[in-house]
Amino acid sequence: MAPPAPDDSFDKLAGKGAAVHLAGTSGFDQARDRAIWNKRLAQARTPAAIVSVDCAEQAAEAVRFAVSNGLTVSPRGGGHNYEASPLRDGGILLDLGGLNGVEVHAEKRIAKVGAGILGSALSEELARHRLAFPIGHCVDVALSGYLIAGGFGWNAGEWGAACANVEAIEMVTAAGEIVLANADNHPELFWAARGNGPGFFAAATAYHLKLHPLPPTAYAWRAAFAATSAPELAEWLTAAVAAAPAQTEVGCFLFAHWDTGEHAIVLRVSACGDNEADAREKIAPFTAPPRAARMIGEVKEGPMPFTELFKLSPMPAGKRVAADHMWSDAAIGDLLLAVHELPAPSPDSTIDIVAFGGHTPVAAPENAALTVSGGTGVGIYALWDDAAGDEANRAWVRRVDDALAPFRTGRYVGEADLTLGPQRRGECFTPEALERLEAIRRRYDPDGLFPPWP
Ligand SMILES: Cc1cc2nc3c(=O)[nH]c(=O)nc-3n(C[C@H](O)[C@H](O)[C@H](O)COP(=O)(O)OP(=O)(O)OC[C@H]3O[C@@H](n4cnc5c(N)ncnc54)[C@H](O)[C@@H]3O)c2cc1C
Repeated sequence: MAPPAPDDSFDKLAGKGAAVHLAGTSGFDQARDRAIWNKRLAQARTPAAIVSVDCAEQAAEAVRFAVSNGLTVSPRGGGHNYEASPLRDGGILLDLGGLNGVEVHAEKRIAKVGAGILGSALSEELARHRLAFPIGHCVDVALSGYLIAGGFGWNAGEWGAACANVEAIEMVTAAGEIVLANADNHPELFWAARGNGPGFFAAATAYHLKLHPLPPTAYAWRAAFAATSAPELAEWLTAAVAAAPAQTEVGCFLFAHWDTGEHAIVLRVSACGDNEADAREKIAPFTAPPRAARMIGEVKEGPMPFTELFKLSPMPAGKRVAADHMWSDAAIGDLLLAVHELPAPSPDSTIDIVAFGGHTPVAAPENAALTVSGGTGVGIYALWDDAAGDEANRAWVRRVDDALAPFRTGRYVGEADLTLGPQRRGECFTPEALERLEAIRRRYDPDGLFPPWP
């Protein structure tokens, strides 16, 4: 679709308070670059316009404008999708990142939040009310696309997938109407919005969240080992995960050690608790790793506030990125052995193997599109700086994913590389859920206003 020439109507949209950047005008390239987290793809496609809104009415106005001008609408929350799915050629990139208000009703343990709010900002605000929500692992993940994909965040072993903690969603439909979708009202839209992931067929403007009491403390234990010690660690690690309670999160990360550059395995085990002793008890099975494994540096452990857990998950921004994800029911030690001899071509890249105590799958909502998960998730993340590294880094992601293929039971739609073909989304849902999603899409967006899965 060729970008339309600037016209009065876009001016009218701007007149309603939206910020509009038309393709080819000054500031457009910068706005597009800001919108997309993965710098490999930040200039990959060209929408006709980037329209940034800060209320639901402006979003509805933009949708109606698109309908009457034959344009598509691609919602963006925080722009973190690894394949830059909000960025489509032609049409409107509808930036909802400015919708970041928070209304907390502490006595009822609920909140209404703008879709664009970042998890870390929400967590800080909720902590003032001694409340919490299972936000994503990194500081800058917006609730917007995280919840639509399902959301696997902090304390998921206890609180389940983040979308299981959503009571209602305010959305702008393809008809340009603002609706409240919940179990009774537009139940099919509500079902689809909790798990469809990229390419959802409405624009969510606000989430109504169920909150939890703020855990009094969290406790984290970390140690790094030489990757060559994987055979000594594997059996112990599997047994320790099996012995831990479901609330314990176990991250086994393969990457270049931050001090020595050596290919390393970093174990990070964390849990929330009523007090330090309670939280530490949940990670106790991990505190005596086999002596035969070569440790790099010292063990680090101690209590920390729930709101600071994301500091354990640094992921540098401003990089070129390629990523993929899979679920597995295999023992964590077997997954480690399958990939420990595959160092990445770039030092910031990681393979993240994340399990919960008892190899317990994260609880999905009972009645939602999020229908596939597993006892262990593996994220493969290549991060590098120069275009010259594109081929080697993307090939590494494929190589790691191939090595894990025998263990794969599914994929997470929020992180899997859906650009590799339609069979990929088939791995993210049960066949019934995929069919139901397509049927709901045909009903709510018959003319394809919202571009589908990438
Ligand atoms: C550093 C980093 C850390 C991450 N950590 C986690 C994690 O711990 N757990 C986890 O589950 N995932 C995690 N993710 C994946 C993350 O959940 C997805 O990338 C998600 O899409 C981010 O939301 P976003 O609003 O930035 O999405 P965007 O990139 O803005 O949008 C992606 C797609 O989602 C849809 N979408 C987004 N917002 C809306 C909306 N308001 N209405 C309708 N459709 C919308 C659109 O189809 C859009 O194309 C992480 C990603 C990164 C880059």
